[in-house]
Amino acid sequence: MLHVHEGQCGVCAHFGEDHGDDVQLVQIHNQHEAPEDFVDDCGHPRLANLHLKVTAVSSCDGFEPIQNGHHSTG
Ligand code: SF4
Repeated sequence: MLHVHEGQCGVCAHFGEDHGDDVQLVQIHNQHEAPEDFVDDCGHPRLANLHLKVTAVSSCDGFEPIQNGHHSTG
């Protein structure tokens, strides 16, 4: 397991944004730990159409913290 630090994809609101209630994502959000080989989609508006896959410990300047553990998708 890798520790996910503040500012990294694993605790970014855009990480797996279209399926934010996924059990494994919620676990990463709560525990700040992710398997080394875990990757998911970055849903940042400027990257989503590229289907960028990032690891939980990747990062970029588009980072936005998750609100309340996880967010509703409406
Ligand atoms: S690449 Fe940037 S915007 Fe996308 S999930 Fe990671 S930190 Fe968030």
